Amino acid sequence: MDFSEPSEAVQITKALEDFIEQEVKPLEQEHEKFLGKDYEKHIVDENHRQVPEYREIVEQIRRKSVEAGFYGMTMPEEVGGGDVDVLTRSIVGEHMSNRPPGFHSHIFGGAGGPTPILLECNEEQREEYLYPLMDGEITTCFALTEPSHGSDAHYMDTRAEKDGDEWVINGQKVYITNGPYADFAMVFARTSGEKGDIEGVTAFLVDADNPGFEVGSIHRSMGMTPGTHAELHFDDCRVGEDKVMGEVGAGFQQAMSWIGGGRLNIAASAVGQAQHLLDMSVEYARNRETFDKPIAHRQGVSFQLADLAADIEQVRQLYRYAAWKMTQGERARKEESMAKLRGAQLANKAADVAMQVHGGAGYMKDLEIERRYRSSRVLRIFEGTDEIQKRTIARELI
Ligand SMILES: Cc1cc2nc3c(=O)[nH]c(=O)nc-3n(C[C@H](O)[C@H](O)[C@H](O)COP(=O)(O)OP(=O)(O)OC[C@H]3O[C@@H](n4cnc5c(N)ncnc54)[C@H](O)[C@@H]3O)c2cc1C
Repeated sequence: MDFSEPSEAVQITKALEDFIEQEVKPLEQEHEKFLGKDYEKHIVDENHRQVPEYREIVEQIRRKSVEAGFYGMTMPEEVGGGDVDVLTRSIVGEHMSNRPPGFHSHIFGGAGGPTPILLECNEEQREEYLYPLMDGEITTCFALTEPSHGSDAHYMDTRAEKDGDEWVINGQKVYITNGPYADFAMVFARTSGEKGDIEGVTAFLVDADNPGFEVGSIHRSMGMTPGTHAELHFDDCRVGEDKVMGEVGAGFQQAMSWIGGGRLNIAASAVGQAQHLLDMSVEYARNRETFDKPIAHRQGVSFQLADLAADIEQVRQLYRYAAWKMTQGERARKEESMAKLRGAQLANKAADVAMQVHGGAGYMKDLEIERRYRSSRVLRIFEGTDEIQKRTIARELI
């Protein structure tokens, strides 16, 4: 067994660090207000929409990332990507998360950037959507969840009815990441079958300016970057047959095949975040003295750090094992879910331990811990809640 990191992961991480130093850090210094303790107030306007100055930074990083070859790195070469495998990508993701909050989170485009689900596009659709997306000219969003159906998304109420050579979409989606800014949405609607059928759901490509499609309220969330998630409304939204992505009725399976990779990204990122918080906490514990001794010399503190270090190493090996199985072409659904479950819990534990070790200082907005504490909570909810991961693991076992 070889536990060393693949040389490609080491090289990409090094290149990304140089890129951050040269291209991203100057922007962070120039626009410090978007990262400081009042960052939330500055990022959005009174309607909770991100302000043009902030959107311009996101776009600038996207353009630079495309030029440097990072943007579509995980996509196949046939569509202009870097063909980086899932293990390498996850390790790089871990390293990228092991740093303070910053604009580097926009380098890969997040939920608005290139995604393998768009490989379902035919050649015309690739020309219209996928290639401009790879070039950073447009962004997308993934619209599956609805007000009444999240974990059971295939019970969706959104329907698309055929009318001549058009489809008419009616329904509502919620919590859609990048929804307010996407140039087009990947929208899932029932086109046949009964509520809850896995088959009969179709994926559509819907332009942001398509009549009948509107961005509703922008959600105000507990953590993450404000102004990112929105409701989407479809009211007699007519699209042509050429907007069906993949096969009619196969949209849900397409969506699910994408979600597995997303779960590993979350696990890897959680390990990076936890490692960063552990390193901060160790440093603080060495220097902070109470009762004439550094708190690091108290078992009450050092055992918390030891436990966290052990948990980080467990999840690191678990996500890498899951990713390795995927690169071998083996079924890894159980391991993906295990890694996502434990990774999400780890990020929350790390934020909690870091806050405890830092005492009052950790609770204040001057340090990044308070922000991490809020933002890590969502990792246990999106891309399948803890309970849904356990359901998947149990189904694989039984
Ligand atoms: C910040 C954020 C960003 C998001 N971005 C997107 C996006 O871009 N696109 C998108 O489509 N969706 C997105 N989502 C939606 C997300 O995927 C859902 O919130 C998630 O799948 C859970 O669905 P729900 O909120 O409807 O909760 P529900 O499904 O209603 O679950 C409520 C509770 O019941 C539990 N539960 C449900 N079913 C079971 C069961 N069978 N057994 C045991 N427990 C169960 C859940 O674990 C949870 O604790 C986002 C959500 C958030 C918070």
